[in-house]
Amino acid sequence: MSKRKAASPGLLERLEKGPVICAEGYLFELERRGYLQAGAFVPEVVLEHPEKVAELHREFVHAGSDVVEAFTYYAHREKLRVIGKEDLLEKMNRSALEIAAAVADETGTLLAGNICNTNIWEPGNAATHESARAMFEEQVGWAVDAGADFIIGETFCWTDEALLALQVIQEAGKPSVITFALDADGLHDGADGRTACKRVADAGADVVGLNCSRGPDTMLPIVEEIRAAVSCHVAALPVPYRTTADTPTFQLLRDTDCGCIPDIGTFPTALDPFTCNRYEIAEFAKAMYEKGVNYLGLCCGAGPHHLRSMAEALGRRPPASRYSPDMSKHAYQGTDENIPSYYKSLGKMYE
Ligand SMILES: [Zn+2]
Repeated sequence: MSKRKAASPGLLERLEKGPVICAEGYLFELERRGYLQAGAFVPEVVLEHPEKVAELHREFVHAGSDVVEAFTYYAHREKLRVIGKEDLLEKMNRSALEIAAAVADETGTLLAGNICNTNIWEPGNAATHESARAMFEEQVGWAVDAGADFIIGETFCWTDEALLALQVIQEAGKPSVITFALDADGLHDGADGRTACKRVADAGADVVGLNCSRGPDTMLPIVEEIRAAVSCHVAALPVPYRTTADTPTFQLLRDTDCGCIPDIGTFPTALDPFTCNRYEIAEFAKAMYEKGVNYLGLCCGAGPHHLRSMAEALGRRPPASRYSPDMSKHAYQGTDENIPSYYKSLGKMYE
């Protein structure tokens, strides 16, 4: 068992007092940085470059995250089978948890364990449900050993798969955050976000909501419905991309202005022109918090600047705020008395 001391206050106490911010999106950011391969998206980086994972945890905390989520997303049996490295499963999970625990402890933040969509779940196929349970149990077990303060079960597309994840987390005696990734038409089982979250909330989840897939504009209205339907805490962790009514998920975005994107498509490696700016993220965070959504974060595509903006919109001033923009000292556009007036006059070229 873990010798790690539980973070105090814990997740639920923090949520009673105000918003909790959780950085996600490790896969995309480490892919962009050149330490993780798009496609299989397996976090081998926790073994190959643990210092890069620790650094990104620190950057997200610096920018305002209250949670260090162990990077065990897709470090599960099915994914490791796909890349032929099942023998690394336990080592990968324990390493990810150890890296995250060290940063959580040095920064006074919460350590979250993580389980996710198994990619083996099939409706009506009991054998796949048993295998999914075994996958959840082993990963939750390692998170408990590492002293996780709570467990996130995320990116689920089947309500029953999420319910099973919740059950395993509850059996481990840990607080639970369960979030769904909604396609254009809802979940794969036909449920909408409100119905799925209501079922998971009724089963006793501490926090329910959505993560990934949808950007702020197409996630917000659904999270509002979820907020109205449940009495527990509600989570919203969109991807920072400009999804629309016609293209409600980031998988559906198509950059038709660009002629050189290879056949793999705009998702996942050419989404750059659709990226939200930091101000759009601030607006989203403010709007959600005003509506009673208090577990907020960002998923695939997020950078520390997005997260800082979210934190500041919620009234925080994380360490990174020391470097928040101040254009008054800009060489041409600045207003500071030390800027030569000739240069200030040249600033008109920007207008
Ligand atoms: Zn994501």
